Amino acid sequence: MVHFVGAGPGAPDLITLRGMRCLQEADVIVYAGSLVNPQLLEYKKPDCEVYDSARMTLEEVLEVLLRAEAEEKTSVRLHTGDPCLYGAIREQMDVLDREGIAYDYCPGVSSFCGAASALNLEYTLPDVSQSVVITRMAGRTSVPEREEIASFAAHHATMVIFLSTGMLRKLSERLTAGGYEPETPAAIVYKATWEDERSFVCTVGTLAETAERNQITKTALIIVGDVVSHGSYRRSDLYNPAFTTEFREGKSEK
Ligand code: SAH
Repeated sequence: MVHFVGAGPGAPDLITLRGMRCLQEADVIVYAGSLVNPQLLEYKKPDCEVYDSARMTLEEVLEVLLRAEAEEKTSVRLHTGDPCLYGAIREQMDVLDREGIAYDYCPGVSSFCGAASALNLEYTLPDVSQSVVITRMAGRTSVPEREEIASFAAHHATMVIFLSTGMLRKLSERLTAGGYEPETPAAIVYKATWEDERSFVCTVGTLAETAERNQITKTALIIVGDVVSHGSYRRSDLYNPAFTTEFREGKSEK
C-alpha cells in the first residue's frame, strides 16, 4: 500500500492526524526534501527507510515504491502542502495503476492557507472578491497560454501565485497589463508557518523591490488583491440578524 500524504505548509503540527498516523506506520518514506519540514520525520518508526526525492528522478522514486510493494511494505510519499497543487502525483499514480498497486491520498494544509494565516487574511471578502485564482508564472515549466497571468488579473479576483518568486518584475508587468493598478495591495509570504516565516505587505508595483530588499528569492507565495488591505467589504449575510438560514430564523428590524 502506498499513501500519498500532504505534509502541510511547514510547521510539523500542521500535518493532519491521519497523515501523522501514516508516517508512524510507514516502512518506507519518500519525502520532498526541498520543501517538507524534516522535523516531520520524527514521527517515523526507528527502522523506517527514508528517501529524499529532491535528489531523485520519477523513475527512482517509483523504483523505491515498487520495491517496497514487492516486499509487502507500507510506504508514504510525502508531498509539501496538499499534493493536489503542483505535486506531480498523477504521474506516480498512473504507474501504480498500471502495476495494480493500491494507494490512497491523505490531504494536507496547502501553503496558500498557511499564507492566509500568516497575514490573518480572508481571501473571499463580500463585495471585494469571492474567488481565488491559484496560478503560477511560466518558467522552465510552461503554463497553457490561455492561463496567462494578465487574463486572470482582468477579473480583479484574489490571486495566489506559486513558484514565481524569481520573476517578480515580469509578474508585476503582467498583472498590470491585465488591469490591476500598480497600487493594488499585494503581499509576499516566505516560508508560511515555518519558524522563520516572514511576510511583507506591498503593492503590485513594488513586489520585486520588496523581495530584493528582504532577500526573498524562493519558497514564497505572492498574494494579490484588495483583500490584502481588507478593502471596503460588506459584512456577511450568513451572520446577519435579518438573514434566515437553514439553522436560524432571521429577525426583521423593528
Ligand atoms: N503542494 C504545495 C505546493 C508545491 S509547489 C502546496 O500545497 O503548498 C512549491 C511552491 O509552493 C513554492 O515554490 C512556493 O511558491 C510555495 N510554497 C510551498 N510551501 C510554502 C510555504 N510554507 N510558504 C510560502 N510558499 C510556499
